[in-house]
Amino acid sequence: MSFPDSLPIPGEVVEIARTLQEAGYETWCVGGALRDALMSHPHADFDLATAATPAQVQSLFRRTALVGEKYGTVGVIDRRRVVHEVTTFRRDVATDGRHAVVSYGVSLEEDLARRDFTINAIAYHPLRHEWRDPFQGEADLRRRLVRAVGEPARRFREDYLRILRALRFVARFRFTIEPATWAALVAGADGLTRLSAERVRDEWFKGIATAQSVTELVTLWRQSGAAARLMPELDQASAEAVASLGTLAPADRDPILATALLSRDPASTLRRLRASGAEVDRAAAMAVGPEAPAGGDEVAVRRWLSAAGKAADDIMALWVVRHGAPAPWAEAVRRIRERGDPLTRGDLAITGSDLQALGAAGRRIGEILSVLLALVLEDPSRNTRETLTALARDLS
Ligand code: ATP
Ligand code: MG
Repeated sequence: MSFPDSLPIPGEVVEIARTLQEAGYETWCVGGALRDALMSHPHADFDLATAATPAQVQSLFRRTALVGEKYGTVGVIDRRRVVHEVTTFRRDVATDGRHAVVSYGVSLEEDLARRDFTINAIAYHPLRHEWRDPFQGEADLRRRLVRAVGEPARRFREDYLRILRALRFVARFRFTIEPATWAALVAGADGLTRLSAERVRDEWFKGIATAQSVTELVTLWRQSGAAARLMPELDQASAEAVASLGTLAPADRDPILATALLSRDPASTLRRLRASGAEVDRAAAMAVGPEAPAGGDEVAVRRWLSAAGKAADDIMALWVVRHGAPAPWAEAVRRIRERGDPLTRGDLAITGSDLQALGAAGRRIGEILSVLLALVLEDPSRNTRETLTALARDLS
């Protein structure tokens, strides 16, 4: 064992643990924060597990929020309004691959036994500085191994999301999967189709955000059979598209962009994953394009900016990932934006009501505005009331 003698735990978390301990309830730090701390990765939220029931936790603190009532999680709100998760020691009494029915009144050891992987089943006592590691999670951390707690096939059958979580942790830490866990994961992949679209989407997005290389994450989804069951797009994506994702720095890990790079019809992919309407619209606009201006001159770039609208920056970001170089017209975009060249009908120095005053009516107004915009995109100096009025007179 090579646990540090003590771990720096945020003061607020220690205080919550102290309150629970003084009321007679065993309380331990658990979960991802310990795993990350042992690897010297920063991790903000230290979750607590306690013998107190959710009702007892609520009665001990002035301000609480219900976080996951069904699963025994209460959010304790500290002075700075930060929410800390406190979960009652629990056992899963019934599982169906998607949800669990839980019961309380169990020991810390039993609570650790229901956790997914050994590296996530370590506990640390924030006041007594003791460690509990019944499944040798610390040794697996050193061996860089994701291994199921207990019998892997059974653990995946209880909750198929664990398959996707395993892939995420492997890609995030560049670990390997212990062979029996991998075999059970591949054998159980059919069960993935029973997960809700929301849980799949959250895992996919989290995976993209945290993987050391998105290419590796996609490869894991493919090899495990998760792609075939949940994201056939990943199997169909070209080798170039998958490889290009490897160049995405964590700061540019926009899940919508990454999904768009991998999918021929990103809007339908995201709709299927129940992404928000705004996200689906964003992906649809990226796909409409146009992918690039017809030429490198500013007229062509203005036309492109006008057509691409709000999707312009996303389209340029896609270009960067696909070609490994900045969009060749990015500099022209910068100049055009700096000058504030008119790009939409709304930017025109003349309005629909002006045209009405000139005698135009109905659909003709929109047509004239389109023609005027085209003329202004060609030469922004035309965007004055006088010039546009004269042009409009000629047109009507
Ligand atoms: P991160 O927050 O960095 O994604 P984490 O390990 O903290 O990683 P959470 O989803 O915050 O993940 O869950 C906290 C802990 O709860 C985990 O460390 C694990 O012990 C347990 N856990 C979470 N989801 C599951 C699951 N589906 N099955 C079993 N245990 C789980
Ligand atoms: Mg966490």
